[in-house]
Amino acid sequence: MTEALRKDWDTYFMDIAFMVSTRSRCPRRHVGAVLVQGKKLLGTAYNGAPMGVPDCSEAGCMIVEEYEPAVRGDDSTMLKKQRCIRTIHAEQNLLLFTDRIDREGSTVYVTDQPCWTCANMLANSGIREIVYHRRYPKDYEKVEQLMEQRGIQFRSLNGYTPPADTETQDVIA
Ligand SMILES: [Zn+2]
Ligand SMILES: [Zn+2]
Repeated sequence: MTEALRKDWDTYFMDIAFMVSTRSRCPRRHVGAVLVQGKKLLGTAYNGAPMGVPDCSEAGCMIVEEYEPAVRGDDSTMLKKQRCIRTIHAEQNLLLFTDRIDREGSTVYVTDQPCWTCANMLANSGIREIVYHRRYPKDYEKVEQLMEQRGIQFRSLNGYTPPADTETQDVIA
């Protein structure tokens, strides 16, 4: 393979995160995350129910309804949204299955921009950089502010295209 066709590291690790996300069995959202120290892969995780507990494909999603602001800014319209709370988020599983010492100064590649809770935990986990692909507008502003306050690099991959057949067909935002 010529150098021009060789994948850069960002693409390489994000591709792995998308491959990992295909393990998820929640039909609403497939999220994958990987921990990288230097150029070494130190952990992978996806969103799922705790081990030994029926997952979404067996027991169905565990749905809660919440009201969220539909538009940011002056418009205060509230929309009712449904979320599945059966799964431990990919980022949280990544923290549960990696060691603090491996996380110090590391990078997390994650298919989706982290929610507020995951961002808050990542901010205290030792990692130095978060790279994501899909946007998650709900928590974006406060997550971005948190990362800035904490001095964590927080960036999306421009022009990135996930590997074929790794994206959920029926994602519900
Ligand atoms: Zn689910
Ligand atoms: Zn999360």
